[in-house]
Amino acid sequence: MIIVMEKNVDPELIELVQSKLRECHFQVHLSQGVERTIIGAVGNRTQEDLDLFETIAGVERVVPIVQPFKLASKEFKEKTVIEVKGRKLGGGTLTVIAGPCAVEGMEKYLQVAKLVKAAGATMLRGGAFKPRTSPYSFQGMEVEGLKILAEASQHTGLPVVTEVMDPRHLEMVAEYADILQVGARNMQNYFLLRELGKIGKPVMLKRGPAATIEEWIMAAEYIISSGNPQVIMCERGIRSFESYTRNTLDLSAVPIIKHLTHLPVIVDPSHGTGKWRLVEPMALAAVGAGCDGLMIEVHQNPTEAWSDGPQSLTPEKFQALMNRLDQMSAALGIKLEGGEKADG
Ligand code: PEP
Ligand code: MN
Repeated sequence: MIIVMEKNVDPELIELVQSKLRECHFQVHLSQGVERTIIGAVGNRTQEDLDLFETIAGVERVVPIVQPFKLASKEFKEKTVIEVKGRKLGGGTLTVIAGPCAVEGMEKYLQVAKLVKAAGATMLRGGAFKPRTSPYSFQGMEVEGLKILAEASQHTGLPVVTEVMDPRHLEMVAEYADILQVGARNMQNYFLLRELGKIGKPVMLKRGPAATIEEWIMAAEYIISSGNPQVIMCERGIRSFESYTRNTLDLSAVPIIKHLTHLPVIVDPSHGTGKWRLVEPMALAAVGAGCDGLMIEVHQNPTEAWSDGPQSLTPEKFQALMNRLDQMSAALGIKLEGGEKADG
């Protein structure tokens, strides 16, 4: 249940409600708004609890949450805005995360990082640990890759997003990355999700290839209930009968997540389609659907890419996409977040 406190209530009354909740064996989570405090109480709630807490001084109302997700729900909080290195994600602007599928070496990565920055990207991406279908495919540069990402972040001033696949690598990845990505294949790795709840960095949670929207939000609930409220949802396509595209990008997930939760949602049309030609139209459609950001794979020479070349844009095509995004966001009254053009 959610306990909505009265506007500008005495902090002592907030304390009182929290200790009463703990006494009744609820897990307590605070959401502090500008004027109002909302207390999320997770546990086995009865009608009596609803009635009891409504009688306590300072409580405006008690709202039962019927959905299985509680702390991710819109009832608990209006909006989550993630801030990294001065850039905001989810605050009404459009964030563009760009870079190659995998880090392939210092020189190549620094070059592409500068190019995507010049085109207006807000953040960098690049895998150092790659979840590959075949054990014989390139698995990522691992810690070397992480060091390259950190170097690129220093050079460009842009935050970096990278995947963590294994809880044993969590500390190491968190040392170098600004946002930790949970890959689609790991969306229901509950042990990893719980561990991510204990770190102080934002987590980008990709939707599992066969996950329903509810399962996906429940995965976010694992991270939040374990202590980390900084979760970003990423729609990257789901498995369907369609085989022309690599996945079927479910853009309806964007307004659904926005309606049900307070979490920012970004769209990855690169993995969502698997084909570079479809990246621009689906990126524009995602913005039209109301996403907070995009994740786009960019490679200097896609035919030579060590992974996901067919869905990677060249820097020139990425620049063209950014120009179209500029036009589209201007028409919709949305600003691009923290983009630093070559002259900026
Ligand atoms: C990625 O973004 O590098 C990636 C592997 O994506 P996904 O987990 O969505 O397949
Ligand atoms: Mn990829």
